[in-house]
Amino acid sequence: MLASMQGLKDLVARLLARPDEIMLSLGAGGELLVARLRALLSLLILAMPLIAALGGAKSSEVVIGLALAVFVNLMAQIWLALARRQLRYGWLPYATGTYDVSLTTLVLVLLALGDPVAATNSIVVWCFYLIAIAITALRNDGRLTLYVSALALLQYALLVAVVFSLAPHETLVSIDYGTASIATQVERLLVILMMGLLTSVIVYRMQRLVEMSGNDGLTGLPNRAWLLQGMPRMFETIRNDGGSLTLALLDLDRFKRINDEIGHRDGDRAIRHFVAAVNEILQEKERLVRIGGQEFVVLMHCPIGSAWERLDRLRRSMGDRPFLPESGRDPQVITFSGGLAAFPVDGGHVSALLGSADRRLQLAKRDGRNRVVARDA
Ligand code: GH3
Ligand code: MG
Repeated sequence: MLASMQGLKDLVARLLARPDEIMLSLGAGGELLVARLRALLSLLILAMPLIAALGGAKSSEVVIGLALAVFVNLMAQIWLALARRQLRYGWLPYATGTYDVSLTTLVLVLLALGDPVAATNSIVVWCFYLIAIAITALRNDGRLTLYVSALALLQYALLVAVVFSLAPHETLVSIDYGTASIATQVERLLVILMMGLLTSVIVYRMQRLVEMSGNDGLTGLPNRAWLLQGMPRMFETIRNDGGSLTLALLDLDRFKRINDEIGHRDGDRAIRHFVAAVNEILQEKERLVRIGGQEFVVLMHCPIGSAWERLDRLRRSMGDRPFLPESGRDPQVITFSGGLAAFPVDGGHVSALLGSADRRLQLAKRDGRNRVVARDA
């Protein structure tokens, strides 16, 4: 019982939290996918008034239908162009979510002008509320799903309230759409609510999976997958907003020997001991990533010279904080070697930057280990 309450609390907290950069960048990919889908579906909508015209519909209806279809296509192209700019516009998912829900309501209102029961009993148009909620799952943002669900509930409840208050009876009857009752409308509102809750749980699960696949179990640090996903975005931010970025590749020295000396379990603890030491020197937004067993990347927002100074100070301080094995064996001084590379001078993309840093790390190893190298020999 206690565990399930905790799980629920975690779910709500996560849904209301701002997703991290990786989640947002995956969500931006989802936004683009949704925009493409919307553009494709809008083309189909264009065919509807033409089919109606062939079927002998009134010309005024065909003109209204055509005008609406042109508007929908125009908007779909605008959303697509904005979504192509990826993470430039944080408000975009909220704008498109509002648009999708409000467009559904608008079409229901237009239907209601001809026949009030069409607004409450139409199935196809009403389903677009559910689709608008479901596609928010592709944006990986719980706040967006909750917002779009609440908006759909509110707009549909208002529409139903207006239709029933303007009609004289508790039930409305139409030849084409059958009978509309308050009970059916309450059921429809419940289905919208259920779709909102279901989509929220999907977003929560997706966020957990992304997090698990990007995190290392031993240290809790981001892993190589995270690095490869997150770096291009970091490069883009530096290119647009300026600032410095230095990548440091760190590798523990003779760790195999330390493992043999103190055992694998204490070896694991020694890795965590090293991670704690590096974390102490990191500034806000700088990240430590575990890319291999005892290999790490540090992303530092400073020029390569000051990155070298900070890491070399850390390197020198490692002797003052030896690792104490739990097995009671002798304290172990953990040393490391590092290779540094500056973006974009030493590499304009991930593999080039990692390549430069690795070359310098190999120099540090070759020259005797326990050193940090920022230049090619
Ligand atoms: P070098 O100074 O050249 O880096 O020598 P090294 O012994 O550290 O060699 P290398 O960098 O190739 O490190 C490999 C060793 O790291 C092998 C393995 O015992 C140890 N190792 C890798 N991952 C882990 C881990 O998760 N836990 C523990 N305890 N040891 C690990
Ligand atoms: Mg090593």
